[in-house]
Amino acid sequence: ARVLGIETSCDETAAAVVENGRALLSSVVASQVDIHAQYGGVFPEVASRQHIQTIYAIVDEALQRAHLGLSDIDAIAVTRGPGLAGSLVIGVNLAKGLAIAQNLPLIGVNHLEGHIYSAWLYPADAPSPPQPPEFPLLALLVSGGHTELILIHQHLEYQRLGGTLDDAAGEAFDKVARLLGLPYPGGPSIQKAAQDGNPQAFTFPRARLEGTWNFSFSGLKTAVLRTVRDLESRGRNLPIADLAASFQVAVVEILVQKTFHAAKVYQAKAILVAGGVSANEALRNAFLSQREFPVHIPPLSLCTDNAAMIAAAGYFHYIAGERHPLNLDVLPNWTLS
Ligand code: ATP
Ligand code: MG
Ligand code: FE
Repeated sequence: ARVLGIETSCDETAAAVVENGRALLSSVVASQVDIHAQYGGVFPEVASRQHIQTIYAIVDEALQRAHLGLSDIDAIAVTRGPGLAGSLVIGVNLAKGLAIAQNLPLIGVNHLEGHIYSAWLYPADAPSPPQPPEFPLLALLVSGGHTELILIHQHLEYQRLGGTLDDAAGEAFDKVARLLGLPYPGGPSIQKAAQDGNPQAFTFPRARLEGTWNFSFSGLKTAVLRTVRDLESRGRNLPIADLAASFQVAVVEILVQKTFHAAKVYQAKAILVAGGVSANEALRNAFLSQREFPVHIPPLSLCTDNAAMIAAAGYFHYIAGERHPLNLDVLPNWTLS
């Protein structure tokens, strides 16, 4: 079955077509990052206005690139939450309109579940499909708004083990970038600055929160802030590269240690890392440089927000027989499981 995915939860307007939950026929993402950069973060009203202006063209382009028309589509999957209410309604309303016009099933998808299913995707023209992740699967979801450890027993069967008590990992990257004077979004800026830095230059705290599956990044962020203030008060130039590298290595260490620990305790068959922060090279290398567990991380283009992941997750709900009524509402604070 071919699913058209639509994603407008935050500041990416995206549409994609995926066959049987895995084969990527097309994926189009219009990022608003240049527009929001001037505000240093996402400006919700500007985001929804941008979605309205671009969504039709993006859906058209996704269909065109897949060489398909709406009549070739079997179901519409759309992000229902979590996200910005004013942004979510744009995608959900368009999805409803298409579902009515074409008499197609409508499936509302959790954005976080989408990030997870990004690891199932492969290019439709690949010589052979790669092995999908095996269950039970330990997922680390690291994005702009979330940092969660989730045990996935089966398709669509999630057990949340823990999550961040304060800032999300991506949020920590964004905040630390801002205090180092690096451009938004912070993750890629920190990664770039860290390339020329010494990760041992500063020792920042790692909140271990032993005995729980939770994370905390606010202490680390405050430690960077204190170091910056201290250096500035002594009239020093900020060693941006060293600060970025020392911060990044602390985040990576916290995430990697707890994820492997959980994978062992719950006897997972594999580890999955997804969400915007999974684009981080240091994090990817740390996970991929060991042989203890097979690790699935989506390709860079599918780590940050996209609609292919929504179509993939939507497919697994579709084959489970799930359908949503046309009065489907958005769920801005929707949690997984
Ligand atoms: P959520 O998925 O929790 O609703 P979101 O959709 O806004 O939040 P994503 O698009 O999944 O978040 O990810 C964006 C986040 O990923 C930002 O915080 C950004 O800084 C971070 N990020 C992107 N690339 C990198 C990178 N290379 N290194 C570290 N962080 C990164
Ligand atoms: Mg975004
Ligand atoms: Fe996201």
